[in-house]
Amino acid sequence: MWRASVLTLFPEMFPGPLAYSLSGKGLRNNVWSLTTVQIRDFTTDKHRSVDDTCYGPNAGMIMKADVVDSALRYALADFAGKPHILYMSPRGVSLKQKTVHTFAQSDGIIVLCGRYEGVDDRVIEYWRESHGLLEVSVGDYILSGGEIAAFALIDACVRLLPSVVGNEVSLDCETFELDLLEFPQYTKPCVWRGKSVPEILLSGDHKRIAEWQKREAEKITELRRPDLWEAYVSGSCGNGTKK
Ligand code: SAH
Repeated sequence: MWRASVLTLFPEMFPGPLAYSLSGKGLRNNVWSLTTVQIRDFTTDKHRSVDDTCYGPNAGMIMKADVVDSALRYALADFAGKPHILYMSPRGVSLKQKTVHTFAQSDGIIVLCGRYEGVDDRVIEYWRESHGLLEVSVGDYILSGGEIAAFALIDACVRLLPSVVGNEVSLDCETFELDLLEFPQYTKPCVWRGKSVPEILLSGDHKRIAEWQKREAEKITELRRPDLWEAYVSGSCGNGTKK
């Protein structure tokens, strides 16, 4: 069973949003499992301190290397199989759908959530060198902790697990799966506030509809995401259709 083990100072935040909808159903049906590790349980001093002031002139507290290291060791020993070990970090590689597939196809993930000004860099470096730890960012902005980033990451992984999304076809044409943003979608009624559903969608001609959807996906990608468009037209990204 695919598993996420989350190292956090706030285990009570979990499963939180992951208990709902697709991910929640998967959790209840044992398609995947979630465990949390309270980082504070690995402190050794009587104040149970997980952080300390940082070296240098900067303000702010840093999570201690020995405490985080012990928590990671525990999580790894407790994990059957070979997990990806991830540290949620704004300095990490930005999370992409292809990477999400890699994580979802593995035994699972161990996710370290930082707080304060982050984690002593030596423990990150040590785990990168010894266990291939990867730093993962969910975007170019700063959250106050890794937990919300972990929710996004875990949710993205879990919905790719077989039998989580009922209709597997619905995943295939989504934004990013074809290296394009998704074409516009509509439901009933056919006219809403004077706006009609594009006529082609009512034609029943599946071939022409597929062509229209591809054109629309290309149009919106070119307009909104020049970076994705550039990669798509040059055929440089994986499964994209060459133009
Ligand atoms: N001082 C750090 C930010 C610390 S924010 C810096 O400037 O880089 C505290 C914690 O929130 C981080 O340790 C990380 O775990 C999490 N976090 C913040 N922003 C994030 C992002 N964009 N992606 C993933 N994790 C993030």
